[in-house]
Amino acid sequence: MKPVVLTQIVPGKAVAAQLRERYTLLGPYRNAAEQLEADGQLDQVRAVITTGGGGLSRELIERMPQLGLVCAYGVGYEKVDVTALKERGIALTNGRAGNASCVADLAMALLLAVGRDVLVGDRYIREGRWHRVPAAGLEFVPGLGGARLGILGLGDIGLRAATRALAFEMEVGYHSRTRRADSALPYFDDVRSLAEWSDYLLVACPLTPATRGMVNREVLEALGPAGFLVNIARGAIVDQAALIQALMSGTIAAAGLDVFDGEPRSADEFKDIPNVVLTPHLGGCTRVALANIDRMLLENLQCFFAGAPLVTPVNLS
Ligand code: NAP
Repeated sequence: MKPVVLTQIVPGKAVAAQLRERYTLLGPYRNAAEQLEADGQLDQVRAVITTGGGGLSRELIERMPQLGLVCAYGVGYEKVDVTALKERGIALTNGRAGNASCVADLAMALLLAVGRDVLVGDRYIREGRWHRVPAAGLEFVPGLGGARLGILGLGDIGLRAATRALAFEMEVGYHSRTRRADSALPYFDDVRSLAEWSDYLLVACPLTPATRGMVNREVLEALGPAGFLVNIARGAIVDQAALIQALMSGTIAAAGLDVFDGEPRSADEFKDIPNVVLTPHLGGCTRVALANIDRMLLENLQCFFAGAPLVTPVNLS
């Protein structure tokens, strides 16, 4: 009999075919607990595929006595109840570093979009303003070369963003809980002093109870009226109400956002704010990155059911 795996995501066609070949694949369901209970399958599930945003609740974990593995598709796992997993000795894996390069690319795209007014220039031409007499002026922007980039979270994505930013001749500094022994980049003890130093602040840390709302009004004020914020990590790391206020009042110059607190709906709150560039959480969405994440998912499941060491286990200690 094939092991039973519950998926909370709609996998791509190729990976879905492989999952179905190897496992009895259930879901995704609107309400997995109700559906599985009705089908009498709750006690058969041995592995769950979910995402950081979709998560996995303690309630559902407790109702699956055979659950041994949770695979977070992507990197984040902020809504997976890791305490409940730890209590039961259930393993967690993610797609660590699988999409870091392409997320760092998007970070650069957003830095360039806000720091070089790419969308403003696009609208300028579309609205026929370039050849108007007298010409409607465009404001000068600071650009990237020589500017300071502060990175909150110098992990897989942050490091790659740093490499790219250095190639753009930026100065780079960072803050994380621990200073990296393998990096000579300037370290800041807290996010506020990092923001004060930065022209551009890039959010690249995980969403945890400690980082929720970490980029608050004080941090935005420290970034200042000439400062730019780019967030490719998780929306809730930034106090969204404070950010909207800061963008509208000129407390900061502009922002580039791939992620939103309460996405997708809450992204609409930014629709009418001109000094922000928006992308719909597509940092990890390139064909190469998705292929990496698919491969890690399949390998982790395979190792788990073969009793072999997992490829990308998350350290839950
Ligand atoms: P990572 O390799 O785990 O790096 C995270 C970094 O954040 C580490 O440097 C860590 O250093 C730091 N950090 C953790 N807690 C912190 C805290 N309380 N204060 C300050 N720094 C802290 O993760 P990653 O692969 O770079 O990904 C980062 C996040 O990006 C993910 O968790 C995910 O939410 C998000 N992401 C978004 C997309 C997208 O599509 N937009 C795609 C992939 C990932 P210390 O442990 O020393 O603090």
